[in-house]
Amino acid sequence: MARRMPTASRHGESTLTHHSSRSDVMPYVWSYGMGAESTAGIYRMLTDPAARPDTIASDYSNLVVVIAQTGDEWSTTGQLAEQHILPVIRARNVRLVEVARKGPTQRHGVAVLQDTRQPYRLHLEGAYKLSDENRVSGTMPQLGGVRKCSQKAKGAPLDWWRSREFGDHQYIHAIGFNLNEEGRIARDKAYSMGGQRIPSFPIHDWSWTREDCIDYLWRELRTVWPKSCCRHCPYAGCVAGWPDQLARFKTLPDEAVQHVIDEYVCLSLNPRSGLFGPGKSLIGRLERDKVTEVLRRAAQRMKTVPWSIYHVRRFYTSRAHASRSVDAVFTGERLLIYALLDELSDLTGISLTRDEPIDGAPVRAAERDRRRRLWLRHRATDRYPAMEEFYVAAPAQVLDKAPSSFDDTWTAHTDASQFSLEHRTRAAIAVARQGLRESRFNDSAS
Ligand code: SF4
Repeated sequence: MARRMPTASRHGESTLTHHSSRSDVMPYVWSYGMGAESTAGIYRMLTDPAARPDTIASDYSNLVVVIAQTGDEWSTTGQLAEQHILPVIRARNVRLVEVARKGPTQRHGVAVLQDTRQPYRLHLEGAYKLSDENRVSGTMPQLGGVRKCSQKAKGAPLDWWRSREFGDHQYIHAIGFNLNEEGRIARDKAYSMGGQRIPSFPIHDWSWTREDCIDYLWRELRTVWPKSCCRHCPYAGCVAGWPDQLARFKTLPDEAVQHVIDEYVCLSLNPRSGLFGPGKSLIGRLERDKVTEVLRRAAQRMKTVPWSIYHVRRFYTSRAHASRSVDAVFTGERLLIYALLDELSDLTGISLTRDEPIDGAPVRAAERDRRRRLWLRHRATDRYPAMEEFYVAAPAQVLDKAPSSFDDTWTAHTDASQFSLEHRTRAAIAVARQGLRESRFNDSAS
């Protein structure tokens, strides 16, 4: 079916006066996510005079294109933006700013990666990657909720830059929400940053859908513009998005391999934490769809890195809320770590489990928990608080971490038989450590 050609329209005209090339006009900021919608919006405004809103000066002097880099974007998206958008920005001398957060919390600050009217490259590597944070905490971005990952890696740095740049002054803030994103628009409109932010939604005002944007970019650039997303984005696993994402895992295994390992570790610490939901892991999808090269490389790399036995405890106050304690009790070469897990099983008399069903997984075609675990307690799913505790082996990349009150809470809810089991396990760990020390001593003495 032929697509209709979206018609040009103006936006943001209600309370704003027309400006030509004066330098004192209200700043017009485009948050450029490098996806199809914002790419189409920026490209059209810069190349089609009829599409330029009155609120952008004819010499584009008040226009600023701002990008927040998560550090985990696919390289091909950046290459397309460099190839098709940066030349237009340079030709019109438009200001482009790239920002990225410098650490896991706001107090670490934001890096300005570039601020120029002549950009030649983008800095997809960011400053502190979203995956850096996930890796040391043994987590992945999560489906549902308020997309904390996006708020932290994109929203917060963009807000920081506009706040620093404009202070109390008003500015227009354009975002590429499409015709079908009314809900996101309604939520965004409620966010005024003290009244100086005037939101604008050019793509929506043009009545363009995502498909309209993709068609437009195809006609103009002869390019099928891909979805902009992190390589480990859980939202890219939806039915519509997965074929594109799968193709990138297939063609860019080097970029993707560490994310596969990250999910392996994440699943080790929590069997319910498949990237696309319980029992729906990225690894499982790649296996199902026979994209094996990235899996082969991940398996190969995992043989070369140190491993740990992690002691994992979770304290649930409800089904969806838990605090967690993780600490590595052994770290060493992979086969040694596996042998130590077997030894702990022998010493405690607790059998290692494997291939158990995963709580919350779909009934049909669900994956099972493939990790070997030494369970001290499974959580009850019908009463709270509930607790779970196990030991598991995985690549050593997660930092020890627990809330300050965790041990007190844990102890307060541990009965005598459970305490005895934990005591037995700690004694087994001490014996295994002693054995390890003696074998190392004997090795160095021989
Ligand atoms: S692309 Fe996905 S993973 Fe990345 S910040 Fe956005 S929602 Fe999170």
